[in-house]
Amino acid sequence: MGMSLRRSISLDVSRVSGVRGLFNYNLSCCVNALLQSFSATTELFDLLNRWQPSAESECPHNIPLQLKRALHAMRDPQQPAPHCDFLDCLHYNYILRYIEHDADEVFHAILNLIQQQMSDLSLAAEIKNLYKITMEGQIHCLECAYVHCVSTFFLSLPLHVSEDKNTLEDCIRSFFAVQKLENSEKFFCDRCEEKKPTAQGFKIVSLPSILCIHLKRFRSRSGFARKLFCEVTFPESFNMADILKEEKSTQEMLVRSYNLFAVIVHSGVTFGHYTAYIRSMQDQMWYFTNDSQVYPASWKEVQQTYGGLGYNTAYMLLYRTVGTETEQGSSS
Ligand SMILES: [Zn+2]
Repeated sequence: MGMSLRRSISLDVSRVSGVRGLFNYNLSCCVNALLQSFSATTELFDLLNRWQPSAESECPHNIPLQLKRALHAMRDPQQPAPHCDFLDCLHYNYILRYIEHDADEVFHAILNLIQQQMSDLSLAAEIKNLYKITMEGQIHCLECAYVHCVSTFFLSLPLHVSEDKNTLEDCIRSFFAVQKLENSEKFFCDRCEEKKPTAQGFKIVSLPSILCIHLKRFRSRSGFARKLFCEVTFPESFNMADILKEEKSTQEMLVRSYNLFAVIVHSGVTFGHYTAYIRSMQDQMWYFTNDSQVYPASWKEVQQTYGGLGYNTAYMLLYRTVGTETEQGSSS
């Protein structure tokens, strides 16, 4: 296929889907894949649009400002390099060029930099709340029955992947399963005033509109990272209440259906390449983005990133609650 033909096909695809390719500058595939997911998160785009940056944040090194501009430029087919300034800005903020990054780390870094650098604090908090999974950590002393509670939150749900076949539902259940900590893992109980065996677990306090799930496929052992290619199946939509059985008051809060709209894919072993599957808000179809290239895809192709035999494995999953999509109706 000639370059000009390929370019015209890709322009047609981006007109129909609203998804456009991003050139790979200095190993930017990780940021490119994340930008595709941010662009598909119209809730984030809308919040950034409500922000009127003050003069002091009008600087080329301000992450929320450059992200806002990049997401705008990505919507303009005439812009050849919509993300160049954002990549420069990341580099200035120590997310360096020419380095292979971990997508979940960069995702957190960008959200944290938005919190630090956005002049409108209430909008910054709204952006955080978009992703914020609030939980209560409970540490139950098995000796005196005292329950220590710690409030905590996650911006992405970090799920352990076992070296076997996994389902997303099982991974979520095991994250919330109560764990007994004994022997060397004993916890200091304030009431007993010494280390005692405990049972620990997390309880969900609130769920966000955008649920980001991080499949922990990298395991580090004595300084070396190893990637797990094991199968993790995941559904196109699910309801947390069907996965976690809680007491009635909590159960009602868990009744939230989530629909998958972005999958960040890691290919290769430790050094690798990032791509993304994006479900277009315009036509509700799946698209595969590999840096500059955008192709129509199908749910069957997305499912090939489950792992097991495949070289390309889903690494981050982004779900949104049903009813928060800005374009309703034509869901397939
Ligand atoms: Zn105790």
